[in-house]
Amino acid sequence: MIYADNAATTKMDEDAYEAIKPFLSEKYANASQPYFFSKPAKDALKTARTTIAKCIGAEPEEIIFTSGGTESDNWALKSVVYNHSNKKRIITSSIEHHAVLNSCRFLEKCNIPIDYLAVDNHGVVLPETLCNEIKDDTALVSVMMANNEIGTIEPIQELCNIAHKYGVLFHTDAVQAVGHIPVDVRFLGVDLLSASAHKFNGMKGSGFIYIRKGLNIQPYIDGGSQERGLRAGTENIAAAVAMAVALQKNCDRMESAQKQLNNLEYHFLKRLSQNGIDFIRNGSANHLPGIVNISLRNSDGELILHRLDLKGICVSTGSACDSNNTHISHVIQAIKVPALYAKGTIRISFGISNTIEDAIIIADSINDILTKQAC
Ligand code: PLP
Repeated sequence: MIYADNAATTKMDEDAYEAIKPFLSEKYANASQPYFFSKPAKDALKTARTTIAKCIGAEPEEIIFTSGGTESDNWALKSVVYNHSNKKRIITSSIEHHAVLNSCRFLEKCNIPIDYLAVDNHGVVLPETLCNEIKDDTALVSVMMANNEIGTIEPIQELCNIAHKYGVLFHTDAVQAVGHIPVDVRFLGVDLLSASAHKFNGMKGSGFIYIRKGLNIQPYIDGGSQERGLRAGTENIAAAVAMAVALQKNCDRMESAQKQLNNLEYHFLKRLSQNGIDFIRNGSANHLPGIVNISLRNSDGELILHRLDLKGICVSTGSACDSNNTHISHVIQAIKVPALYAKGTIRISFGISNTIEDAIIIADSINDILTKQAC
């Protein structure tokens, strides 16, 4: 099998896997209990929080463990409902993940106005677009750090500065970015940031939210007093430990991983061109390393995905068909991929386990499928 869908999820890091074993067996105590048996769990949680904070330039108390990107996004967006001022409007981009977009749909039903920013043809939110949209009652701007479909990296620092200039808070969904590109919350200036462990070789169902010190945000999940009363529920020690080990490793090898992934992209795209395939590469030049989103002329992305699957190759698509319609993803629509290409969109997301040979096999397999399709 060739797994080239690392933007969907990643394989758990082996050191992270080893590190969690004691917390799933002999060191199983509840970290919130006062007795000595709980100390290893408590210490592990503290160490994990400190490690994660350092990796993104934060303080440990600014990191709150959650069940992943979806929960963190929901929390950041829906916190607007509880703020005590009459500023309740939210601005977001039209290419956010559904964790943000569907939170916005919910909020709209609660009469919270949402403004959706258009993006350019590369998926970039232009700072002037944000400037024009901020209104007196805007409470929060939420723009993702990097797009999960096309890999475009957004100008977060610039956008954040604009929001702050107007006294508006800034959240970024950094689920695809953390562990893959440098992320420093102080440098960026963001107030809230969402991350998910399974995108950087941690466990699924775990993640964190960064909440800037001094920001008064209401809990999203009510219950016990875990996470300083901000996020109730018995802590998942193993998930936090795995997340910290995996994130630290990803940060340590970031530069070499970027080089390797850029090289895989290069060989993949070169091979597609050598095979004479007519395609558009989507996204901006400043993109997440390893994500290659292409739209193939006159093709069917879903069909290609299934044919690749039969060859043991895992990728994603930007379109999905039911029996009557083809649904083109909101991102592919937002960047205005021409109709002749849009339906044939697939996303290859390489990881550090992939080789140049994998990249060439995938390109040749696509060629093979397209040739047979044409016959
Ligand atoms: N945000 C983005 C940009 C994502 O890519 C994803 C997952 O694909 C999420 C949020 C949701 O994260 P999780 O799977 O941890 O809930």
